[in-house]
Amino acid sequence: MKKVNAIFDAARSEGRKYLLEPEAKAICVQYGIPVTKFEVATNESEAVKFAKKIGFPIVLKVVSPDIIHKFDVGAVILDVKTEAEVGSAYDAIQENVNKYKPNARIVGLLVQEMAHQSTEVIVGATKDPQFGPALMFGLGGIFVEVLKDVTFRIAPISESDAREMVTEVKASPILKGYRGQPPADIKAVVEILMNTSRLVMEHQEIKELDLNPIMVYEKGAKTVDARIILE
Ligand code: ADP
Ligand code: MG
Repeated sequence: MKKVNAIFDAARSEGRKYLLEPEAKAICVQYGIPVTKFEVATNESEAVKFAKKIGFPIVLKVVSPDIIHKFDVGAVILDVKTEAEVGSAYDAIQENVNKYKPNARIVGLLVQEMAHQSTEVIVGATKDPQFGPALMFGLGGIFVEVLKDVTFRIAPISESDAREMVTEVKASPILKGYRGQPPADIKAVVEILMNTSRLVMEHQEIKELDLNPIMVYEKGAKTVDARIILE
């Protein structure tokens, strides 16, 4: 796997500020941030091969520097269950991209482990011109989008800062389990926050980072979509 700086250099040499999802996830992996297993296929038979290696069901997504919101253009297909479905999803994504963004360059198709539904959280980072990198935490879906139930800290953060972030959002009790739901692995979330802090401190060229959503399980967590924007 390419080292973090090599990924930044490759993007810059192509004049890109947005990292591709597999690039952003490769960086996460190097900082101990768990992500769904993934491979980039450049043809259909490779996609099938990777799907079998990762294990069904899988998710297929376009990898394109010209498409930032993949889902909106029909370039994310979830719950692909068989080899035959890989073929049809592969074609459907290319067709959708050609229809909605005819000039988009397609680097490949991302074949990805399908994460089980669970409690979703969001970890973000933005660079403040005055204070440097700041971290954001919230629970996914309506909590962040509608209720703006989020919390921020200037990086670097300590473990107790990370714990506070997780417990101080209003939706936090949801992570402790309710209505028979098992409690979520808060330690895994704290670790993601600390590793993200380390990443943005060590790489000040990151302008924005967005791990959205992260599925949190009884044991462990998995980042489903990762975005990184460079300065
Ligand atoms: P976009 O570029 O539009 O943000 P995403 O990669 O976030 O595309 O995919 C859209 C949505 O599909 C995600 O918010 C998530 O709900 C779901 N999703 C994406 N990848 C996975 C995955 N590997 N496992 C489960 N759900 C996924
Ligand atoms: Mg997304």
